[in-house]
Amino acid sequence: IYNFEALDPELWTAIHAEETRQQETIELIASENIVSPAVRAAQGSVLTNKYAEGYPEKRYYGGTEAVDVVENLAIERAKALFHAEFANVQPHSGSQANAAAYMALIEPGDTVLGMDLNAGGHLTHGSQVNFSGKMYNFVSYGLNPETELLDFEEIAAQAEKYRPALIIAGASAYSRIIDFSKFREIADKVGAKLMVDMAHIAGLVATGHHPSPLPYADVVTSTTHKTLRGPRGGLILTNDADLAKKINSAIFPGLQGGPLEHVIAAKAVAFKEALAPEFTDYIGQVLKNTSAMADEFRRAGLHVVSDGTDNHLFLVKVTELGINGKEAQNLLDTVNITLNKNSVPGEKLSPFETSGVRIGAAAITSRGMKEDESRKIAQMIVKALANKDDETTLQEVRQFALNLTKTFPLV
Ligand code: PLP
Repeated sequence: IYNFEALDPELWTAIHAEETRQQETIELIASENIVSPAVRAAQGSVLTNKYAEGYPEKRYYGGTEAVDVVENLAIERAKALFHAEFANVQPHSGSQANAAAYMALIEPGDTVLGMDLNAGGHLTHGSQVNFSGKMYNFVSYGLNPETELLDFEEIAAQAEKYRPALIIAGASAYSRIIDFSKFREIADKVGAKLMVDMAHIAGLVATGHHPSPLPYADVVTSTTHKTLRGPRGGLILTNDADLAKKINSAIFPGLQGGPLEHVIAAKAVAFKEALAPEFTDYIGQVLKNTSAMADEFRRAGLHVVSDGTDNHLFLVKVTELGINGKEAQNLLDTVNITLNKNSVPGEKLSPFETSGVRIGAAAITSRGMKEDESRKIAQMIVKALANKDDETTLQEVRQFALNLTKTFPLV
């Protein structure tokens, strides 16, 4: 980072430490990725200096000609990428995208049916400690306990019982294809609106590796930093002109002030990258790597939730190895492998401990790793967890991670 060391040694040291951590760590957190230098350059540009409340050509400040071009590029690229008629690229995060979508679709106090957090839903899908659970009357659906798949009979029964104003599809920890047409059928039967939060699978949707929610949902929300491989931020899409107006008002002036035009520029870069054929190959490789890892865990006799994966992530139960999710996360941190603990269906442990971990391949694939490396990583994880008290084995796994990350450096 240019001149930082002399200007602010304390901060430089912290940033440098994070850079080293990223260089030397096998990153398996399913919601993370590694952006291109172009995305970082756009985000670090002079656009951060500019106030631009409002929308292109309708701003509350002068001097917005260039940022209008930037924001329009981001909007047009998002629309092209997802075949949507309207895009709002201003949400500072996925949570703010969801808050704005709720504001546009429903009223405070309305009933909303979303996925249970323990089954893979997100905080903003009704957690009691989140604005969503405080402002709206959330009820939930889970997974079928036998198949660990979405159970459309149960979802329909919940919808009939509670008659929600809004149904939410989409998850933070579900490894199978989501059939949005079935959600639409259920929503139509009970007169509910349908919102799809595709934060995790946006890169898959963009490249045709997961069916698009756009033909079925009233509103689609997303983050831009997971499989889509852009800067941290949010995105809202719709094909409904009335909802588009409400979404714009919900973001500004409803929830946010000035847009982060430097982040919006970085989103524009990421959308352009995602429109290129190489990105389709990239997501294809993400799916191959994820499935290769899940296979190895199964071969080791561990339970992979939903019996496998169709996307960029899966959950694996680790308690058979005599370790819980939290201990596994902490142990792997010490051998340069990063992932997160995760509840599994029918969870018996607390959310702070959990029986499983969540694993995703988006970041390792961005570094160029393929199936062979993915299989080896899974084998090494099992080895470390099964030998948690054996420092020689742990040192072997650590050395493996250091060698592998050196062979596949960050760009
Ligand atoms: N929606 C889903 C499904 C997510 O998984 C996440 C983040 O993990 C979000 C929304 C929220 O995104 P953010 O962390 O940018 O607020």
